[in-house]
Amino acid sequence: MNTPAAIVTGGAGFLGSHLCEALLARETPVVCVDNLVTGDDANIAHLLERPGFRFLRRDVTSPPLDPRGPVGLVFHLASAASPVDYRRLPIETLRAGSEGTLHALRLAERKGARFVLASTSEVYGDPARHPQPESYWGNVNPIGPRSVYDEAKRYAEALTEAFRRDRGARTAIVRIFNTYGPRMRARDGRAVPTFIRQALAGTPLTVTGDGTQTRSICHVDDTVRGILALADSAHPGPMNIGGPEETTMLELAELIIQLTGSRSRIRFLERPEDDPAVRRPDTALARSLLGWEPRVGLEDGLRATIAWFAGRDRLARSA
Ligand code: NAD
Repeated sequence: MNTPAAIVTGGAGFLGSHLCEALLARETPVVCVDNLVTGDDANIAHLLERPGFRFLRRDVTSPPLDPRGPVGLVFHLASAASPVDYRRLPIETLRAGSEGTLHALRLAERKGARFVLASTSEVYGDPARHPQPESYWGNVNPIGPRSVYDEAKRYAEALTEAFRRDRGARTAIVRIFNTYGPRMRARDGRAVPTFIRQALAGTPLTVTGDGTQTRSICHVDDTVRGILALADSAHPGPMNIGGPEETTMLELAELIIQLTGSRSRIRFLERPEDDPAVRRPDTALARSLLGWEPRVGLEDGLRATIAWFAGRDRLARSA
């Protein structure tokens, strides 16, 4: 097969595995590079036999990758992404954003490929501007508990932009906002899987603070469609991709209780340090330049995600 491949670092993770699937669906060969530090080979088990799919178990911070054959796209997603993970892996997270991004950029440059950095809404920190447009510079604590992730991504953005500005590399930065869907890990600490796991088990849903902090969540199919649309364009970004519907954590917990038919109640816990009070993307740029907007409604997306978790739950109990 001579079609140029797409390299997906972090391809065995939640978002990466959906991206690999979407690329294969449009007949782009995929090289998935992952050291499985927070990913799971079960996420890509169904792809291993597919023609055009290769898995390399590699650390992106190790000596640079040099896969054979033509490469048209490099997506750099490898990084711990949930607060539970990056607090457990602080140095690894900083290295994935710094050395890992450098290696991925050099690979893209060598192959003449377009490079897409998976950045994050966390670059806006605890935002003083709401909703957040791409032009907002953010409000990040450089030494706080989230800084290993936020600053790694801010550095990765600066590096990507330097390759574009100073070396003519074809790069793009996508700032992904909270995404949910099947293949999230039940204990990764993010709100949707935590609430679903608790609701299915009938235990209290743990909402931090008074639950008035907001997030706007986006279904993984929509996020992946946005990432691919940006990759297909010539736009360098940064570009926000995320859900426009803002909900409070308390509303989200109550909705998940309702959709699961659970008898769980809500339990309030102390709010973590530097937890942003509000988060919602301004997606005008993605709408006007890419014609992108989310298609999966919150209730439909949550129902499908709950069904996936419930299926796994049944499997785990019958094992
Ligand atoms: P995830 O933890 O499921 O996936 C990350 C993957 O990267 C894992 O498979 C992990 O094993 C791999 N990885 C980590 N360090 C590595 C290294 N040094 N070498 C090779 N592989 C490595 O997380 P996710 O939610 O799928 O996030 C994927 C990317 O998207 C991350 O870069 C994250 O910052 C970004 N992002 C995700 C969200 C979200 O809501 N899921 C929001 C914003 C940004």
